[in-house]
Amino acid sequence: MENRKLNPKYDVIIIGAGPVGIYTSIRLAKEGLGVLVIEEDLEIGKPRFCTGLISKEAFDKFSLPKEAIENEFYSAWVFSPLGSKVCLNSKKIKVYVTDRTRFDFGLYNRALDAGVKFLLNCFCRGIVLNNDYVQADIIFEGEPRTVRSEVVILSTGIKYHLHRNLGFAPPANFLDCSQIQLSGKAGEDIEIFLGNSVAPHSFAWLVPLKKEKLRIGISTRKDSPLFLKSFLNYLESKGYIGAEKADVIRRPIPLEPIKKTYNHRVLVVGDAAGQVKPTTGGGVYFGLLCADLAVQTVMKSFKEKDFSEKSLRHYEINWKKTIEFDLTMSIYLRKLLANFNDGQIEELVKFLSQKAVQQLIEKHADFNHHGRFIKELIKFPPFWKSFYQILATK
Ligand SMILES: Cc1cc2nc3c(=O)[nH]c(=O)nc-3n(C[C@H](O)[C@H](O)[C@H](O)COP(=O)(O)OP(=O)(O)OC[C@H]3O[C@@H](n4cnc5c(N)ncnc54)[C@H](O)[C@@H]3O)c2cc1C
Repeated sequence: MENRKLNPKYDVIIIGAGPVGIYTSIRLAKEGLGVLVIEEDLEIGKPRFCTGLISKEAFDKFSLPKEAIENEFYSAWVFSPLGSKVCLNSKKIKVYVTDRTRFDFGLYNRALDAGVKFLLNCFCRGIVLNNDYVQADIIFEGEPRTVRSEVVILSTGIKYHLHRNLGFAPPANFLDCSQIQLSGKAGEDIEIFLGNSVAPHSFAWLVPLKKEKLRIGISTRKDSPLFLKSFLNYLESKGYIGAEKADVIRRPIPLEPIKKTYNHRVLVVGDAAGQVKPTTGGGVYFGLLCADLAVQTVMKSFKEKDFSEKSLRHYEINWKKTIEFDLTMSIYLRKLLANFNDGQIEELVKFLSQKAVQQLIEKHADFNHHGRFIKELIKFPPFWKSFYQILATK
């Protein structure tokens, strides 16, 4: 149960109880720090906006809550708007679809067990950086209050008003996403639909859950609800779904990291830092990976009693070392694919169907680190010939 008594000062205050904030809190509490998490929503993990695709590799690496797993996949089908399709699979890659409410709640229970203090239904409206402490100005039980700590971690997801308050710029680029969950029946694999009239600049997806439920979503540059509506009409015409109505959840995904993720006594992690795979928009894996690096830096700063900008900058050096290559390669790839016409998409899907490319995927594809695969693809001799042919396609 939530205990309403607050300490005068915590070691670390974390703003935002999404998966990244909660995971960070568990790690810090297990290291022996006093951690307060502030969350503006009343309930953890609600509303469920995310598709919840997370690799088995991530589950193993971060010991994630398995009770949230709803289904598992080894393959994804990609459909071109002009009729071709390709199955992407690799025996090494296993992906789970999770119920993000249960996922976040599973992490929350672990954080409570580790001694983390949560304030739910509590909005942080400002952060004041002082020489000797950080102060969070919060609204709790309708009253303005302040809480203090040595360090603050911003894991506020796609809400960026505290960034402005602290001089951090928000991400420069976003995708507009809409998602719905309906009864229906499709194949056994994840399905991805490309095409300029389907999901311009991005893609639509269909993920089968158990018990004949489907999670259906779309990402575009703008107007995602309109594109979702016509995608649902298409799925209905194919007999995948009926005429059932359900709530559509719309939400942006940041596509590029923010310019600076540290300051005196502050670190920024997860979607708040734009640590998201630019190819798919998945953010849980990179967020957790960077959370581990944030914990490393924070623990060092406590050991050395040095919370200066200079000390905390090691977090950014480390996360860039870990994911900047993937981010850069994936941003280039996304920019290139976003401008493909339907003919080029058709040729790309045919290229991916070639036996040699399928073997390359089997050998080098990685669900989380796309940069490595893109590098192998560029080194692959037949790539450039096909690439120029694709670029020339009208
Ligand atoms: C349609 C869609 C599908 C997606 N599918 C996938 C997927 O399949 N796989 C994947 O890996 N990723 C996916 N993502 C991305 C994924 O959901 C995010 O990367 C992930 O939720 C980021 O976690 P986070 O903890 O950084 O932020 P969030 O989960 O956004 O949590 C941030 C929390 O901070 C709180 N908060 C913000 N500001 C304040 C404040 N001032 N005071 C108090 N609390 C505050 C918010 O209420 C929120 O609870 C998807 C996203 C969308 C939109």
